[in-house]
Amino acid sequence: MFKPHHTALLKWYATSGRTDLPIRHLKGENAPYEVYVSEIMSQQTQIGVVLDKFYPPFLKAMPTLKDLAQAKLEQVLLLWQGLGYYARAKNLHKSAKICCELHGGELPNDYNALRALPGVGDYTANAILCFGYKQAVGVVDANVARVLLRLFGIDPKSPNLAKLLQVKALEFLNQENPFDHNQALIDLGALVCTPANPACLLCPLQQACKGKHNLTRFSVAKKPPSTPITKHYGVCVQEGFLYLTCAKKGLYAHLHQFPLLKEQEHINLPLLAQVRHSYTKYRLSAKIYQATLADLDPTNLVKIPLQDFKHTPKSSLSLKIMHTLPILNL
Ligand code: SF4
Repeated sequence: MFKPHHTALLKWYATSGRTDLPIRHLKGENAPYEVYVSEIMSQQTQIGVVLDKFYPPFLKAMPTLKDLAQAKLEQVLLLWQGLGYYARAKNLHKSAKICCELHGGELPNDYNALRALPGVGDYTANAILCFGYKQAVGVVDANVARVLLRLFGIDPKSPNLAKLLQVKALEFLNQENPFDHNQALIDLGALVCTPANPACLLCPLQQACKGKHNLTRFSVAKKPPSTPITKHYGVCVQEGFLYLTCAKKGLYAHLHQFPLLKEQEHINLPLLAQVRHSYTKYRLSAKIYQATLADLDPTNLVKIPLQDFKHTPKSSLSLKIMHTLPILNL
Protein backbone atom coordinates (compact mmCIF):
# COMPACT_ATOMS: atom_id res chain seq x y z
CA MET A 1 0.00 0.00 0.00
CA PHE A 2 2.82 2.41 0.84
CA LYS A 3 5.15 1.27 -1.92
CA PRO A 4 4.87 4.41 -4.12
CA HIS A 5 5.46 6.63 -1.07
CA HIS A 6 8.47 4.55 -0.01
CA THR A 7 9.93 4.91 -3.47
CA ALA A 8 9.30 8.68 -3.53
CA LEU A 9 10.85 9.06 -0.07
CA LEU A 10 14.00 7.12 -0.96
CA LYS A 11 14.37 9.01 -4.20
CA TRP A 12 14.16 12.29 -2.32
CA TYR A 13 16.67 11.01 0.27
CA ALA A 14 19.18 10.04 -2.42
CA THR A 15 19.18 13.53 -3.91
CA SER A 16 18.34 15.84 -0.97
CA GLY A 17 19.06 13.90 2.24
CA ARG A 18 22.16 14.19 4.42
CA THR A 19 23.64 11.01 2.97
CA ASP A 20 27.18 12.34 3.35
CA LEU A 21 27.08 12.24 7.16
CA PRO A 22 29.71 9.71 8.24
CA ILE A 23 27.34 8.16 10.78
CA ARG A 24 25.09 7.12 7.90
CA HIS A 25 27.80 4.71 6.71
CA LEU A 26 28.73 2.79 9.83
CA LYS A 27 29.33 -0.87 9.21
CA GLY A 28 30.75 -3.90 10.97
CA GLU A 29 30.70 -5.23 14.50
CA ASN A 30 31.43 -1.89 16.14
CA ALA A 31 28.56 -0.06 14.40
CA PRO A 32 26.04 -0.47 17.28
CA TYR A 33 28.49 1.18 19.72
CA GLU A 34 29.30 3.98 17.27
CA VAL A 35 25.58 4.58 16.66
CA TYR A 36 24.99 4.57 20.40
CA VAL A 37 27.65 7.22 21.09
CA SER A 38 26.54 9.46 18.23
CA GLU A 39 22.87 9.20 19.19
CA ILE A 40 23.49 10.03 22.84
CA MET A 41 25.75 12.94 21.90
CA SER A 42 23.25 14.40 19.44
CA GLN A 43 20.29 14.27 21.84
CA GLN A 44 20.77 17.90 22.88
CA THR A 45 23.41 19.05 20.42
CA GLN A 46 23.30 19.64 16.67
CA ILE A 47 24.71 16.71 14.74
CA GLY A 48 27.14 18.98 12.82
CA VAL A 49 28.70 20.19 16.07
CA VAL A 50 28.85 16.64 17.44
CA LEU A 51 30.63 15.34 14.34
CA ASP A 52 33.02 18.30 14.14
CA LYS A 53 34.10 18.54 17.72
CA PHE A 54 33.08 15.71 19.99
CA TYR A 55 32.46 12.38 18.28
CA PRO A 56 35.89 11.82 16.64
CA PRO A 57 37.99 12.48 19.78
CA PHE A 58 35.63 10.38 21.89
CA LEU A 59 35.85 7.43 19.51
CA LYS A 60 39.61 7.85 19.27
CA ALA A 61 40.00 7.72 23.05
CA MET A 62 37.39 4.99 23.53
CA PRO A 63 37.10 3.04 20.30
CA THR A 64 34.97 0.21 21.74
CA LEU A 65 32.35 -0.29 24.42
CA LYS A 66 34.92 -2.26 26.44
CA ASP A 67 37.34 0.67 26.36
CA LEU A 68 34.57 2.94 27.59
CA ALA A 69 33.70 0.53 30.43
CA GLN A 70 37.34 0.44 31.55
CA ALA A 71 37.85 4.20 31.41
CA LYS A 72 37.67 6.40 34.50
CA LEU A 73 34.53 8.51 34.77
CA GLU A 74 36.75 11.59 34.97
CA GLN A 75 38.19 10.83 31.51
CA VAL A 76 34.69 10.37 30.05
CA LEU A 77 33.54 13.67 31.55
CA LEU A 78 36.57 15.48 30.14
CA LEU A 79 35.77 14.19 26.65
CA TRP A 80 32.16 15.28 27.16
CA GLN A 81 33.20 18.77 28.22
CA GLY A 82 31.27 21.37 26.23
CA LEU A 83 28.42 19.04 25.27
CA GLY A 84 26.51 19.73 28.48
CA TYR A 85 23.84 17.50 30.01
CA TYR A 86 26.52 15.39 31.65
CA ALA A 87 24.00 12.82 32.89
CA ARG A 88 24.24 11.45 29.36
CA ALA A 89 27.97 10.81 29.73
CA LYS A 90 27.55 9.23 33.14
CA ASN A 91 24.80 6.94 31.82
CA LEU A 92 26.88 5.99 28.80
CA HIS A 93 29.71 4.98 31.12
CA LYS A 94 27.36 3.04 33.43
CA SER A 95 25.74 1.28 30.46
CA ALA A 96 29.12 0.22 29.10
CA LYS A 97 29.95 -1.37 32.45
CA ILE A 98 26.57 -3.13 32.56
CA CYS A 99 27.10 -4.46 29.01
CA CYS A 100 30.48 -5.86 30.06
CA GLU A 101 28.93 -7.55 33.09
CA LEU A 102 25.76 -8.88 31.44
CA HIS A 103 26.18 -8.91 27.66
CA GLY A 104 29.77 -10.00 26.99
CA GLY A 105 31.00 -6.46 26.31
CA GLU A 106 28.52 -5.85 23.47
CA LEU A 107 25.37 -3.80 23.27
CA PRO A 108 22.40 -6.17 23.32
CA ASN A 109 20.50 -6.53 20.03
CA ASP A 110 17.20 -6.78 21.83
CA TYR A 111 14.79 -3.91 22.56
CA ASN A 112 14.01 -4.77 26.20
CA ALA A 113 17.64 -5.30 27.15
CA LEU A 114 18.59 -2.00 25.52
CA ARG A 115 15.77 -0.14 27.28
CA ALA A 116 17.04 -1.52 30.59
CA LEU A 117 20.32 0.39 30.14
CA PRO A 118 20.49 3.77 31.89
CA GLY A 119 19.68 6.71 29.62
CA VAL A 120 18.45 4.54 26.73
CA GLY A 121 14.91 5.54 25.75
CA ASP A 122 12.65 4.27 22.98
CA TYR A 123 14.29 6.33 20.28
CA THR A 124 17.88 5.39 21.16
CA ALA A 125 17.03 1.69 21.54
CA ASN A 126 15.37 1.61 18.12
CA ALA A 127 18.15 3.68 16.53
CA ILE A 128 20.74 1.16 17.79
CA LEU A 129 18.62 -1.75 16.51
CA CYS A 130 18.01 -0.20 13.09
CA PHE A 131 21.22 1.75 12.37
CA GLY A 132 23.59 -0.51 14.31
CA TYR A 133 22.08 -3.99 13.93
CA LYS A 134 20.14 -3.36 10.69
CA GLN A 135 16.85 -4.52 12.17
CA ALA A 136 13.50 -3.53 10.65
CA VAL A 137 12.10 -1.30 13.41
CA GLY A 138 10.51 2.15 13.37
CA VAL A 139 12.75 4.96 14.68
CA VAL A 140 10.79 7.92 16.02
CA ASP A 141 12.67 11.06 17.06
CA ALA A 142 11.08 14.52 17.27
CA ASN A 143 11.53 15.05 13.50
CA VAL A 144 9.93 11.75 12.57
CA ALA A 145 7.11 12.29 15.08
CA ARG A 146 6.27 15.59 13.36
CA VAL A 147 6.20 13.97 9.91
CA LEU A 148 4.03 11.07 11.12
CA LEU A 149 1.58 13.35 12.92
CA ARG A 150 1.00 15.33 9.76
CA LEU A 151 1.24 12.46 7.30
CA PHE A 152 -1.42 10.39 9.09
CA GLY A 153 -3.40 13.33 10.49
CA ILE A 154 -2.90 12.24 14.10
CA ASP A 155 -4.21 14.42 16.90
CA PRO A 156 -1.16 15.42 18.99
CA LYS A 157 -3.35 15.22 22.11
CA SER A 158 -4.13 11.52 21.49
CA PRO A 159 -3.68 9.33 24.58
CA ASN A 160 -0.44 7.29 24.50
CA LEU A 161 0.82 9.41 21.63
CA ALA A 162 4.37 8.02 21.76
CA LYS A 163 3.08 4.44 21.46
CA LEU A 164 0.69 5.38 18.68
CA LEU A 165 3.49 7.03 16.71
CA GLN A 166 5.67 3.95 17.16
CA VAL A 167 2.85 1.79 15.78
CA LYS A 168 2.42 4.12 12.80
CA ALA A 169 6.17 4.18 12.18
CA LEU A 170 6.18 0.39 12.00
CA GLU A 171 3.12 0.35 9.77
CA PHE A 172 4.78 2.81 7.40
CA LEU A 173 8.20 1.12 7.56
CA ASN A 174 9.84 0.10 4.32
CA GLN A 175 10.75 -3.50 5.16
CA GLU A 176 13.05 -3.72 2.15
CA ASN A 177 15.26 -0.85 3.24
CA PRO A 178 14.47 0.15 6.85
CA PHE A 179 17.88 1.79 7.33
CA ASP A 180 17.56 4.38 4.56
CA HIS A 181 13.82 4.74 5.14
CA ASN A 182 14.31 5.80 8.77
CA GLN A 183 17.24 8.06 7.94
CA ALA A 184 15.13 9.64 5.18
CA LEU A 185 12.23 10.32 7.54
CA ILE A 186 14.59 11.95 10.05
CA ASP A 187 15.97 14.19 7.29
CA LEU A 188 12.54 14.96 5.90
CA GLY A 189 11.46 16.24 9.32
CA ALA A 190 14.67 18.22 9.76
CA LEU A 191 14.83 19.75 6.27
CA VAL A 192 11.32 19.86 4.76
CA CYS A 193 8.58 19.10 7.28
CA THR A 194 9.90 21.70 9.69
CA PRO A 195 7.92 22.89 12.75
CA ALA A 196 7.02 26.22 11.13
CA ASN A 197 6.44 26.68 7.40
CA PRO A 198 7.07 23.17 6.09
CA ALA A 199 8.00 23.08 2.40
CA CYS A 200 5.08 20.87 1.36
CA LEU A 201 5.63 21.59 -2.34
CA LEU A 202 9.02 19.89 -2.11
CA CYS A 203 7.82 16.98 -0.01
CA PRO A 204 7.89 13.47 -1.49
CA LEU A 205 4.97 12.47 0.78
CA GLN A 206 2.77 15.37 -0.26
CA GLN A 207 0.25 13.18 -2.12
CA ALA A 208 -0.35 10.99 0.92
CA CYS A 209 -0.22 13.67 3.60
CA LYS A 210 -3.49 14.13 5.50
CA GLY A 211 -2.35 17.06 7.60
CA LYS A 212 -0.83 19.42 5.07
CA HIS A 213 -3.88 21.70 4.94
CA ASN A 214 -4.29 21.91 8.68
CA LEU A 215 -0.80 22.16 10.11
CA THR A 216 -1.85 23.80 13.37
CA ARG A 217 -4.16 20.92 14.21
CA PHE A 218 -1.56 18.26 13.47
CA SER A 219 1.50 19.82 15.10
CA VAL A 220 2.79 19.58 18.65
CA ALA A 221 2.35 22.86 20.55
CA LYS A 222 5.44 25.04 20.82
CA LYS A 223 7.46 24.77 24.00
CA PRO A 224 6.87 27.67 26.41
CA PRO A 225 9.67 30.27 26.24
CA SER A 226 12.56 29.75 28.63
CA THR A 227 12.64 31.67 31.92
CA PRO A 228 15.34 34.33 32.33
CA ILE A 229 17.30 34.13 35.59
CA THR A 230 20.39 35.88 36.93
CA LYS A 231 22.96 34.34 39.29
CA HIS A 232 26.17 35.73 40.75
CA TYR A 233 29.36 33.63 40.88
CA GLY A 234 32.77 34.22 42.40
CA VAL A 235 36.24 33.56 41.03
CA CYS A 236 38.59 33.19 43.95
CA VAL A 237 42.30 32.46 43.45
CA GLN A 238 44.45 32.37 46.56
CA GLU A 239 48.08 31.25 46.80
CA GLY A 240 47.89 29.52 43.42
CA PHE A 241 44.68 27.63 44.23
CA LEU A 242 41.32 28.12 42.54
CA TYR A 243 38.20 27.60 44.65
CA LEU A 244 35.36 25.67 43.02
CA THR A 245 32.42 23.53 44.04
CA CYS A 246 32.17 19.84 43.26
CA ALA A 247 29.06 17.96 44.38
CA LYS A 248 29.20 14.22 45.08
CA LYS A 249 25.57 13.63 44.10
CA GLY A 250 22.96 15.08 41.79
CA LEU A 251 22.93 16.51 38.28
CA TYR A 252 26.40 18.06 38.57
CA ALA A 253 28.09 15.25 40.52
CA HIS A 254 31.87 15.05 39.80
CA LEU A 255 31.78 18.28 37.78
CA HIS A 256 33.61 21.36 38.96
CA GLN A 257 31.72 24.65 38.98
CA PHE A 258 32.34 28.19 40.02
CA PRO A 259 30.79 28.81 43.45
CA LEU A 260 27.83 31.08 43.90
CA LEU A 261 28.39 34.15 46.00
CA LYS A 262 26.95 33.97 49.51
CA GLU A 263 25.09 37.19 48.85
CA GLN A 264 23.09 37.29 45.64
CA GLU A 265 22.00 40.92 46.06
CA HIS A 266 23.71 44.27 46.62
CA ILE A 267 27.05 42.95 45.40
CA ASN A 268 29.97 45.23 45.79
CA LEU A 269 32.76 43.22 44.13
CA PRO A 270 34.67 43.83 40.86
CA LEU A 271 32.65 42.43 37.96
CA LEU A 272 34.91 40.33 35.69
CA ALA A 273 32.49 39.08 33.05
CA GLN A 274 28.94 38.24 32.17
CA VAL A 275 28.17 34.91 30.50
CA ARG A 276 24.91 33.74 28.97
CA HIS A 277 23.97 30.09 29.26
CA SER A 278 20.81 28.07 28.56
CA TYR A 279 19.90 24.90 30.41
CA THR A 280 16.66 22.94 30.80
CA LYS A 281 13.97 25.67 30.83
CA TYR A 282 16.23 28.53 31.90
CA ARG A 283 18.12 31.34 30.19
CA LEU A 284 20.82 32.17 32.68
CA SER A 285 22.70 35.43 32.88
CA ALA A 286 25.77 34.51 34.96
CA LYS A 287 27.63 37.44 36.48
CA ILE A 288 31.19 36.61 37.45
CA TYR A 289 33.00 38.58 40.17
CA GLN A 290 36.46 38.64 41.62
CA ALA A 291 35.87 37.27 45.12
CA THR A 292 37.63 36.26 48.33
CA LEU A 293 37.00 32.98 50.13
CA ALA A 294 34.73 34.79 52.59
CA ASP A 295 32.44 35.88 49.74
CA LEU A 296 31.74 32.33 48.51
CA ASP A 297 28.89 30.02 49.39
CA PRO A 298 30.83 27.25 51.20
CA THR A 299 28.63 24.31 50.02
CA ASN A 300 30.80 21.56 48.44
CA LEU A 301 33.76 23.94 48.18
CA VAL A 302 37.05 22.40 46.99
CA LYS A 303 40.37 23.91 45.91
CA ILE A 304 42.56 22.81 43.05
CA PRO A 305 45.89 24.14 41.75
CA LEU A 306 45.03 26.86 39.23
CA GLN A 307 47.11 25.19 36.49
CA ASP A 308 45.04 21.97 36.83
CA PHE A 309 41.75 23.71 36.08
CA LYS A 310 41.97 23.24 32.34
CA HIS A 311 42.17 19.45 32.76
CA THR A 312 39.49 19.14 35.43
CA PRO A 313 35.98 17.95 34.46
CA LYS A 314 33.73 20.99 34.59
CA SER A 315 30.19 22.03 33.75
CA SER A 316 29.44 23.75 30.43
CA LEU A 317 28.91 27.05 32.22
CA SER A 318 32.32 26.75 33.90
CA LEU A 319 33.88 25.98 30.53
CA LYS A 320 32.34 29.16 29.09
CA ILE A 321 33.65 31.16 32.05
CA MET A 322 37.10 29.63 31.54
CA HIS A 323 37.11 30.73 27.89
CA THR A 324 36.01 34.24 28.89
CA LEU A 325 38.66 34.87 31.56
CA PRO A 326 42.29 34.67 30.34
CA ILE A 327 43.60 34.10 33.89
CA LEU A 328 41.88 30.68 33.90
CA ASN A 329 43.33 29.54 30.56
CA LEU A 330 46.74 28.47 31.81
S1 SF4 B 1 3.26 17.41 2.86
FE1 SF4 B 1 3.95 19.04 4.20
S2 SF4 B 1 3.04 18.60 6.18
FE2 SF4 B 1 2.88 16.74 4.96
S3 SF4 B 1 4.67 15.53 5.51
FE3 SF4 B 1 5.20 16.72 3.70
S4 SF4 B 1 6.13 18.62 4.48
FE4 SF4 B 1 5.06 17.63 6.17
